[in-house]
Amino acid sequence: MRIVLLGAPGCGKGTQGAHLAHDYRIPRLSTGDALRAAVAAKSVLGLRAKAAMDAGQLVSDEIVTGLVEERLAAADTANGFILDGFPRNESQARTLDAMLVHLGRAPIDHAVHLRVDEAELIERLQSRGRVEGRADDNVETIRSRLEVYRNQTQPLLDYYAQQHKLLSFEGVGDVLQIRNRLIEALGASRAESASI
Ligand code: AMP
Repeated sequence: MRIVLLGAPGCGKGTQGAHLAHDYRIPRLSTGDALRAAVAAKSVLGLRAKAAMDAGQLVSDEIVTGLVEERLAAADTANGFILDGFPRNESQARTLDAMLVHLGRAPIDHAVHLRVDEAELIERLQSRGRVEGRADDNVETIRSRLEVYRNQTQPLLDYYAQQHKLLSFEGVGDVLQIRNRLIEALGASRAESASI
């Protein structure tokens, strides 16, 4: 199963991505986690990415697609993967499709979208900022990230809908209930494609 997770910052991609990775026994690849690790390690890549991350803007396509390509070329993603936080714009989505062809991998099966309204997102991100101390979970940066999401990432919903790959879910409520809805929908669509 090759899944892309879509949704605004704070919608629960990380939490649900971890559940799906566990349930399907496939790796979850989070570009945000990989970039934060690079920043913490003060690597050249981390130093290049830091300013954009602190400002709540996107890091360059070149940096993130390099990270993703390295992971998708590795053996542990051969049977599937969950991409959390990538693609973030249409250029990255096209690069991802081309990358899978180039690596001899099957295409993305589903884009899973979690819907959460903005007031709830802001509240969640502020509380995560207090608990986890993430540098970009402060009010000003949260607003930039939500704007970047609306302008650059939200159009991907159409991109995947046109490919008939979009599955959209209400992202508010009990975490395990949301997980169960995802698993059910993914299982149903798998059974449907197997019977065609
Ligand atoms: P996340 O943890 O997914 O919210 O990502 C945290 C930050 O990392 C984002 O606000 C961006 O600055 C950067 N980032 C993560 N994924 C990407 C991506 N696919 N393209 C560009 N920047 C990204």
